[in-house]
Amino acid sequence: MCGIVGYIGVQQAFPILTKGLHRLEYRGYDSAGVALINTDNRLNIYKSHGKVSELERFCESKDISGTIGIAHTRWATHGEPNDTNAHPHFSTDRRIAIVHNGTIENYTVLKQALEQHGCVFDSDTDTEVVVKLIEYIYRSTGCSLLNAVREALEQVVGAYAIAVISADAPDTIIAARKSSPLVIGIADGETFLASDASPIIEHTNQVVYLRDNEIAIIKRGEPLQVITNKNEPSTIDIQTLRMSVSQLEKGGYPHFMLKEIFEQPNTLFDCIRGRISADGTKVQLSGIEDNASRFINAKRIVLVACGTSWHAGLIGGRLIEELARIPARVEYASEFRYANPVISSDDIVIAISQSGETADTLAAIKLAKERGAFVYGVCNVVGSSIARATDTGTYIHVGPEIGVASTKAFTGQVTVLTMMALAIAQLKGTISPDALRSTAQSICKIPSLI
Ligand code: GLU
Repeated sequence: MCGIVGYIGVQQAFPILTKGLHRLEYRGYDSAGVALINTDNRLNIYKSHGKVSELERFCESKDISGTIGIAHTRWATHGEPNDTNAHPHFSTDRRIAIVHNGTIENYTVLKQALEQHGCVFDSDTDTEVVVKLIEYIYRSTGCSLLNAVREALEQVVGAYAIAVISADAPDTIIAARKSSPLVIGIADGETFLASDASPIIEHTNQVVYLRDNEIAIIKRGEPLQVITNKNEPSTIDIQTLRMSVSQLEKGGYPHFMLKEIFEQPNTLFDCIRGRISADGTKVQLSGIEDNASRFINAKRIVLVACGTSWHAGLIGGRLIEELARIPARVEYASEFRYANPVISSDDIVIAISQSGETADTLAAIKLAKERGAFVYGVCNVVGSSIARATDTGTYIHVGPEIGVASTKAFTGQVTVLTMMALAIAQLKGTISPDALRSTAQSICKIPSLI
């Protein structure tokens, strides 16, 4: 998981971009880089292997002026971590720059085809192929940069979030996504772009989550425009973030994981709030209540997840079987998606993911839906891909989890799954009112016990 940050507006882009990269450092990376267009319409690109702070030092004596730019932290998938392979990558004439998160599966074929047209590659990355392909289409057809990006993406197989800028269009960022998240932040006269909301929240709480196969055209001083890869206009759904900057800072703790451990009394309270009645006699989850007959008639529940979420699923599956008397299976999403599973329309699939962006879990959801299952999401990030791809679901509401080893998200997931087991049991009448009350009251006591 690498990171992308973009900015266009009235302020100097460099400090905003590098601060944004620092916010994304928790995702892990091996190199960092930035591309800026200065007032002379010159595209300056600086990149280096190592930390964002090393990039900042490297740029100290450089021209870092400009009110438009894109930046990147790389987690190498194609080519070793070094200065050349770091992003941004650029066109042969150094007038177009790209940052990319993801992998291009058919990059070898594309690279060979471009080499036959005389294209020379500097790096070992899959990403450089995309920018050289954009350049090839742009120069050979004379089309607009947007059309060149769109046509290049038509030829690309793989997963990507990209941002492109060009000295030929110094007031525009073009961004696109497929299976890799991208969020656009909209403020007065400026627009932000990032892999998740953490670099954006200190500037604006108005965001648009780009959907798969969408391309955003971010022009200085103009409203955001979003089209599909097929060049049709897309609807723009502006959401208000409920996150605060303090949630992204360490708040006096030496590291995020410790902070997040100590946040659990509050996060669990937020997770339970409004979902268990004050007297403990009712567990209310709208995703279950609104789909009561599906849960009453479900023949089986399959929980799909990866990593920590899978471990939460193991507990959830046990509780659902025990309390709601529905057979439950827990599957690794990465196995499920390739296993040709037997799934039918009276199955319910529960997909669990903190970020709501786990690629294997998203693929498992797609497969389950194709096979007619009703899919329920349990995730943390509001408006994430999994929240959108599922039929309904429950957010865990524990706030951003920066620590890589999950703590509060895990306890939030287990809490939601426990409430789900109780809510289904209550619907099906497989739990006595006394047992329901005592269990629900015990859950309500947890925040004050830890
Ligand atoms: N596949 C690209 C590379 O290796 C991007 C990796 C990433 O997502 O950071 O450069």
